[in-house]
Amino acid sequence: MSADPVVLTERLIDCPSVTPATGSVFDTLEAMVAPLGFTVHRFIAGEAPDGPVENLFAVRQGPAGSRHFAFAGHLDVVPPGQGWSSAPFNAERRGELLYGRGAVDMKGAIAAFVAALADIPAEAGTISLVITGDEEGPARYGTVALIEHMRTIGALPDLCLVGEPTSVNRLGDMMKIGRRGSVNIWLTVDGAQGHVAYPHLADNPIPRLVAMLAELDALVLDEGSEWFQPSNLEVTDLAVGNPATNVIPAQARARLSIRFNDRHTGQSLVDRVSAIAARHGGTAEAVISGESFITLPGAFSTLIAQAVEAETGVTPELSTTGGTSDARFLRALCPVVEFGLCNATMHKKDEAVAMEDLHVLTRIYRRVALAALAG
Ligand SMILES: [Zn+2]
Repeated sequence: MSADPVVLTERLIDCPSVTPATGSVFDTLEAMVAPLGFTVHRFIAGEAPDGPVENLFAVRQGPAGSRHFAFAGHLDVVPPGQGWSSAPFNAERRGELLYGRGAVDMKGAIAAFVAALADIPAEAGTISLVITGDEEGPARYGTVALIEHMRTIGALPDLCLVGEPTSVNRLGDMMKIGRRGSVNIWLTVDGAQGHVAYPHLADNPIPRLVAMLAELDALVLDEGSEWFQPSNLEVTDLAVGNPATNVIPAQARARLSIRFNDRHTGQSLVDRVSAIAARHGGTAEAVISGESFITLPGAFSTLIAQAVEAETGVTPELSTTGGTSDARFLRALCPVVEFGLCNATMHKKDEAVAMEDLHVLTRIYRRVALAALAG
């Protein structure tokens, strides 16, 4: 098997895998890790509408009692969109870059980890790959199902690295030691429909919804915390859908998205919004998609920083910025840190990775795995 991370990345990019990823992209990864002595478990979880989802757990057992290091990631990608200069699912080398959907988010990182494995002896300890086909989608039957699987077979890691693209301006400048939580809330105000010329016979829900939103939008949730930026509430939709100029509508709806830090739980925010909604005669329905989490700076983040410094000379910033990731689930198992490629082109057209970065990342991942297994 080739241990060239560029070739491995090309092979993965060449398997189209818009969320939810299925079939050939998993076959390709399995064919890469099986010859390295990994036992590959593949299974499909969940049902419509958020499933079924294909997942892969691969493990190579170290000597009895050895430590277990897990690498987690996803093989699914977001849709390519329009305007690419090359075919998004046909990897293309141009100059120093390798183009293709998933190059940085995050087939390149998976390829780098696999290439690193080729150089790590089984005696070093237990290594596993926790790979889902649904991270960019609902993520309900992906990493959550993988964690269940790992618990069932008793394969519990001591440390877990998620290979999301966390670097910003150059490889190594940032890792994520935590993420904010996320909750979406749907607000509804019911009124009574009627003729605009006879408002005393109707009850217009719109002014009450507007007043509710003004109060919510003015909330200062916090000023940030030691490792987190301030929590933020955004109004993301406002809908009445009234086609008639002479009708007072029966209902008005709005939607909020709150990204929150460790000063809150999803439920505490839902309770707070619900109380404000009720004061304005409305109701609130929420979906909490993740709580905030933090892996406090310590042995694990230091070990990663040392690997990054050794290979790049850059000291990574410890950050909790950005959206959610599957690290929010994995942190239930063990300390989790995210580190990977530069994210400038992720989810964009002409997504691309510097081929040299793939080689450097391979060396960083090799150092991280060896240090993590050495404990
Ligand atoms: Zn990703």
